[in-house]
Amino acid sequence: MSSVAQLTRLMDEARRVVVFTGAGISTESGIPDFRSPGGVWSRMRPITYDEFVASEAMRRESWNRVFSGVTKWVGAKPNAGHLAVASLVVAGKVASVITQNVDNLHQDSGVPGEQVIELHGNATYAHCLDCGLRHELHVLKQSFLGRDEIPACRGCSGLVKTATISFGQPMPREAMARAQAETLACDLFVVLGSSLTVYPAAGFPLAAKRNGARLAIVNREPTEQDGLADVIIHEGIGAVMAAVAAALEAAG
Ligand code: ZN
Repeated sequence: MSSVAQLTRLMDEARRVVVFTGAGISTESGIPDFRSPGGVWSRMRPITYDEFVASEAMRRESWNRVFSGVTKWVGAKPNAGHLAVASLVVAGKVASVITQNVDNLHQDSGVPGEQVIELHGNATYAHCLDCGLRHELHVLKQSFLGRDEIPACRGCSGLVKTATISFGQPMPREAMARAQAETLACDLFVVLGSSLTVYPAAGFPLAAKRNGARLAIVNREPTEQDGLADVIIHEGIGAVMAAVAAALEAAG
């Protein structure tokens, strides 16, 4: 049996599936993995949360990066992998998507926002660090580029930052709790495009497996947890997941 057929069978037999995604699902949308050669952190040092809060120069540099498009998040479109996952969510097969990505491409591909759990936040909008008020990037961009204004909250004048979890910032408590609950409720945990090296996120597939769920991993390169997986596919995610979604749909 081919590995795609094996994954299709696991999905078919599962009662509740959780999908966990990392940078590898978005490389097919032209977003390089941060940590890879050519990725954003190979070209510039990340600005930590403490640096952002402490220094106006760092905030200026941070917003320069956001609006110059160096991270390649802006304008990226979902690819076949995102669309296959979305079709499985809409069909009721996948209960939720836990993601390490900040690019909003699961929502853009049609996964309802409440079924996406973002462990590292979201880079496509900003929020106030004091009151939480949401700010749209296109509005901030106008005043930053036009009037050289570093974004401040229109509600409380607090510091505004993209809604990502920066280095040195604690993991989001609510998202972590939801991810943990979904992990323990599933009987199939599917990893798409993560090398499973970054903790605590990489602890979820371990927890699922320990709890009795099956584990499937689709990633171009070997991962830290290949030895635990019931199915491992070292191929591109878009083609694999499109084939799996089509086979499941054909099977009804
Ligand atoms: Zn505010």
